[in-house]
Amino acid sequence: MHNSFAFSAHSLCFAGGHAVFLQKIRIEYAALPCKSASNKIAGCRGLKLDFQSNPQPKGIRMNELPKTEKLPLMESFYTLQGEGFHTGRPAWFIRLGGCDVGCVWCDVKESWNPDAHPKFSVESMVMDALENPGRLAVITGGEPLMHNLDALTDGLKAAGFETNIETSGAYPLSGNWDWICLSPKKFKLPLPEVLAAAHEFKVVVYHRSDIEWMQQFLPHLSPDCKLFLQPEWSKAEDITPLLLDFIKQNPAWRLSLQTHKYLNIP
Ligand code: SF4
Repeated sequence: MHNSFAFSAHSLCFAGGHAVFLQKIRIEYAALPCKSASNKIAGCRGLKLDFQSNPQPKGIRMNELPKTEKLPLMESFYTLQGEGFHTGRPAWFIRLGGCDVGCVWCDVKESWNPDAHPKFSVESMVMDALENPGRLAVITGGEPLMHNLDALTDGLKAAGFETNIETSGAYPLSGNWDWICLSPKKFKLPLPEVLAAAHEFKVVVYHRSDIEWMQQFLPHLSPDCKLFLQPEWSKAEDITPLLLDFIKQNPAWRLSLQTHKYLNIP
């Protein structure tokens, strides 16, 4: 049995309000059991996004969306953004598998091996994201730019999402982003093209020497780039006072705390 239905712009945009181009999105739904990926990893099988937007929003290549595009998904979940410029906003997080940057203090080492995580289609990831009212999607990892993210961000944008990424900047940019948060890592340096495109430069400080180290990148950032210093979680007690002193003397910078860890939320 095969069901087919279309959402109106209002039904899809009830919380976002800014995705006017959704008017002609038609979603065909093959009536297969839907195991939500939000239930941490499964996906809704048989879903097909049929984009009929006219005119197409600038930068969205919906006709080229590879319907079979799949990416390794470690987890996806709805929570509040805990760090950086967008702290406190409800967001759907998509954590992709795969990272070869090798930070010693990494708190998601289980993300490193991309083969350890099942692959899911862009369509299923977008449909799962739509299950919650928030229309901010944060793509993280791992290092998400190890994958080509054009199809995922095109799908999310077509569904009315703001698209944010958290990246080390160590790989070339792909995807269509409303916000690029670049967090540079010593173990694999950021590329100039990502530094120039970053909306937010968030430095995780593990050792006091990191404050000196990160300053080499500042000339490569856009003048509008927001600057954040964030104490590494396990060193926060020692490092936070240093950051407070630095920011008081360098008022272009702001403090970022991992508020989700203080709140014990994902
Ligand atoms: Fe972990 Fe991120 Fe560093 Fe990769 S870049 S090792 S995921 S902290």
